[in-house]
Amino acid sequence: MRREQRIVRAWCEVQSAERTAERTRWLEFAAPEIAAQAAPGQFVMVGFGGRGWGSPFLPRPNSVAAVRGERMGLLIRAFGEGSRRLASLQSGDSALLLGPLGSRYRLGDARRILCVAGGVGLAPFLFLPRWAQQKGCGGEIRLLYGERDARAVFDPSKIQELCGLEAEIWTEDGSLGNRGRVTDGIDLDGVDLVLACGPTPMLKLVRKQALQAGVPCQLAVEEHMACGVGTCIGCAIETVDPDTGEQGYDLVCVDGPVFPAERLRW
Ligand SMILES: Cc1cc2nc3c(=O)[nH]c(=O)nc-3n(C[C@H](O)[C@H](O)[C@H](O)COP(=O)(O)OP(=O)(O)OC[C@H]3O[C@@H](n4cnc5c(N)ncnc54)[C@H](O)[C@@H]3O)c2cc1C
Repeated sequence: MRREQRIVRAWCEVQSAERTAERTRWLEFAAPEIAAQAAPGQFVMVGFGGRGWGSPFLPRPNSVAAVRGERMGLLIRAFGEGSRRLASLQSGDSALLLGPLGSRYRLGDARRILCVAGGVGLAPFLFLPRWAQQKGCGGEIRLLYGERDARAVFDPSKIQELCGLEAEIWTEDGSLGNRGRVTDGIDLDGVDLVLACGPTPMLKLVRKQALQAGVPCQLAVEEHMACGVGTCIGCAIETVDPDTGEQGYDLVCVDGPVFPAERLRW
């Protein structure tokens, strides 16, 4: 199948970098060619050029979290070597971006959409409402967003600024918003599409609820990957063809990261 998009590989400069929660940064890159094409659910591989440029050698995948004119936003939480280096970037620094990559959420003619975000799984939903408005698709959107505690919550006013929606916040200890897991907030009454992004245990719960209720559901899956373009086969996951029942494997980088819930063999 012919790709509709042109994958761009370019050193891009950080235009702004701000702390938005504990270990979490919001970065905007000057990346006009990626920004012009990217859609919610898609990602970029972010690297530092490999040998001679310091570690890590391999790039890391990150969801496109905003497109503002010629700028592209990323939401970064520092865990290991790659995300720590990325989170340490300041205005004027550059990183090597490759993208846009992967599949996007498909809104079709859904009128009531429930988005469920866990942790940095918030990233695509910071982008989706305005993108949908621009494309003239998608209806009323409700955004549920969960974190461990208040310190991890991405600045709520920044969420509103970026996506134009007020997120319904859930924290496990009740220190901000509702107390409990974000999946406790799911109510599928009247919903005709569920979109989710976050840790795998959360996605499994969302998938179960949506399949039980017979509501179409799309999940953005996270896997470690070395290339992002289907060469390393490092991000293979077990899938099933819902029509034929035939089992196989898909690659999160090129077949995903967004999959219909019924395609995942979980
Ligand atoms: C399609 C896609 C989109 C992504 N989008 C984003 C995004 O928008 N923002 C973002 O911050 N991350 C995102 N990630 C995850 C990000 O790629 C990883 O956090 C990153 O690869 C970690 O690299 P590292 O070198 O920092 O950590 P590694 O050295 O690879 O790992 C260090 C340790 O941290 C753990 N770890 C790594 N990542 C996570 C995590 N996300 N949650 C919990 N523990 C973790 C590892 O298991 C390991 O124990 C995305 C991943 C995929 C596949």
